[in-house]
Amino acid sequence: MERVLITGVAGFIGSHLADRFLAEGFEVVGLDNFITGNPKNIEHLSGRDDFRFVKHDVSVPFYIDEKIDYVLHFASPASPVDYLKIPIQTMKVGSLGTHNMLGLAKKHKARILVASTSEVYGDPLVHPQKEDYWGNVNPVGPRSVYDEAKRFQEALTMAYYRFHSVDVRIVRIFNTYGPRMRLNDGRVIPAFIGQILRGENLTVFGDGSQTRSFCYIDDQVEGIYRLLMSDYVGPVNIGNPEEISILDFAKELLNLTNNSELQIDFKPLPQDDPKRRCPDISLARDLLDWEPRIGRKEGMKRTLDYFHSLTPEEIKQAEHKDFSRYIKP
Ligand code: NAD
Ligand code: UDP
Repeated sequence: MERVLITGVAGFIGSHLADRFLAEGFEVVGLDNFITGNPKNIEHLSGRDDFRFVKHDVSVPFYIDEKIDYVLHFASPASPVDYLKIPIQTMKVGSLGTHNMLGLAKKHKARILVASTSEVYGDPLVHPQKEDYWGNVNPVGPRSVYDEAKRFQEALTMAYYRFHSVDVRIVRIFNTYGPRMRLNDGRVIPAFIGQILRGENLTVFGDGSQTRSFCYIDDQVEGIYRLLMSDYVGPVNIGNPEEISILDFAKELLNLTNNSELQIDFKPLPQDDPKRRCPDISLARDLLDWEPRIGRKEGMKRTLDYFHSLTPEEIKQAEHKDFSRYIKP
């Protein structure tokens, strides 16, 4: 039986990857320190003999005797609210954590896939974003702790490929959503859903004209799985090219949930908030024969079902976060 090591396994994407690899017949070893994850996300896996969880901070080296065949390095805070609260840990897991996982992959002669992000494109001057665009990142702005850690991660990964011949894959993930996101992680979809569940107005930052392109988790996991099993070295965008402004998305969600009485409150736009974001997925289409299958309406329905299953206590606890620390004075 082949063995996969997944870092960030108690997080949103990591826990779905664990489910997928177990379903494909792999044995899964999962690492997490719960800094932004939730033990509940992997609760259903406890007691299985093909799943093992180790509580560990991957910015510290990790050793394991059993042979590892694949490494999926997904540990990292991913929400701007999270990584602005824990900037140093974010930089460490993207740099030291990646170094540790590349070292582990080298020792085990394992294939490693690292989770990169559309944030490597920064506030993009090219639209939609293709893998050969180098980006427009502010290296000293508040978001740089995440963006630059991920750019360093990509560079280190390619160095291990070129210098040590480690078998590497890089996925550039665009905004992904679905069940098991934390209601209070601050990302726009759980933020809006939390507000709706608590009967509050939706907070749109800026005038809401900035765009995002939202990919449902099952499509994302399929893309990652196909990329890992492909023989392509180099970054590949995985995301849904259906682009929408944040204001239109807020209105769409109010419609979808029949909440005509709730309003939209406009708040200041956080510094360096990208104005546009949309993946060009021609490479993934050609290489992996992959494209998203689940549209926003269906994806949001499934996501809302999940959040409706939370207890009133869990919903209450997830009150809106204070963004003042990173709003431009
Ligand atoms: P998440 O916060 O839900 O999950 C991240 C997990 O990593 C958490 O369980 C957290 O506890 C764990 N973690 C963080 N630092 C750690 C450390 N030092 N040691 C051990 N575990 C640690 O976020 P997510 O949305 O699931 O994102 C997963 C990965 O995908 C991240 O690398 C993120 O950068 C990348 N990504 C996600 C998106 C998205 O839209 N969800 C977009 C681009 C990139
Ligand atoms: N956003 C918003 N209201 C919120 C949370 C986020 O208008 O309550 C906006 C945010 O400014 C950004 C977009 O939604 O333009 C997506 O934000 P998110 O934090 O999900 O991730 P990003 O794509 O910026 O990394």
